[in-house]
Amino acid sequence: MRFLTSQFSNRASRLPSGECAQSAQLISMMCVARQSRLTGMLARCRFLQNLSLISLTLLLFVEHLLSLRVAAADDWVDFRQTGRFLVRSEFPIGGDDELAEFLRHLDQHEADLVATLRLKPSDQPIVINLFTSRRGFLRAIRSVAPEATNRRAVFVRGDDAGRVYCYRHGELLTDLRHELTHAILHSMLPFLPLWLDEGLAEYFETPPTERASGHPSQQRVALAVKFGLTWRPNLTKLEAKNELSEVSLASYREAWAWVHFLLHGPPEVTQLLQRYLLTIQAEQPPGPFSAHLRQVVPDPERALTTHLKNWK
Ligand SMILES: [Zn+2]
Repeated sequence: MRFLTSQFSNRASRLPSGECAQSAQLISMMCVARQSRLTGMLARCRFLQNLSLISLTLLLFVEHLLSLRVAAADDWVDFRQTGRFLVRSEFPIGGDDELAEFLRHLDQHEADLVATLRLKPSDQPIVINLFTSRRGFLRAIRSVAPEATNRRAVFVRGDDAGRVYCYRHGELLTDLRHELTHAILHSMLPFLPLWLDEGLAEYFETPPTERASGHPSQQRVALAVKFGLTWRPNLTKLEAKNELSEVSLASYREAWAWVHFLLHGPPEVTQLLQRYLLTIQAEQPPGPFSAHLRQVVPDPERALTTHLKNWK
């Protein structure tokens, strides 16, 4: 198990490298090592540090996962079920605000993912826990994932259900869309490379109308591309990052950029992504995505840069 510490000043993730089979093996190995006492789970997290709002992914192994004592039963004042999604909240959810609207249409977020990525849907339950304050969030996280207390939102993958933990603040909806994306993807896929997992979560964390144009990363990447600054995408290097300390904020932006290219670039790269995910869904080792991409686009980095330069 690895622990997140205050040394990470960027969005960061711990995860598999581009070699998915290796990541699956890693998870398996770690589970086996602790199988007598611990339950393995994969967590995707957004965390808070140094007054910055940060996102990260990490692998956690926590005792007593199934007990899930996230809050006393009396703390929940609002429950709602939409399809396979159960929402429980420490605060009343208004009838017509943005959060209530989003929670009424959770299945639409899932439908967007399924339709975009051509994945087969899952019926595994997803539980969304909403806390009034960071204090309540931390109380819950300490019992299920004590290593994650420097985070702002967390997704925990369990055998019986996926669980999302968020608390009320100005960017709750962004956190919710980000973590819910992880939860939906991991309910449908046995594993997912880090760069793609985070790239997709970043892409789908904005409202649907802002996904093609409007993500905060877009402006920064576009400026870097336009003025020929230090942004040098390299998918092979991105795929190889498998330690938290290696994954910088720039890596998150690059992951978002690749996903944007794959979803809004030439149709053949979108189809390649869809086939790649179906291979993973079929539990077949897919190999590094970059190797497949180079067969379709000989110089993907140049193609990505051109795509971003021309994208409005
Ligand atoms: Zn994430």
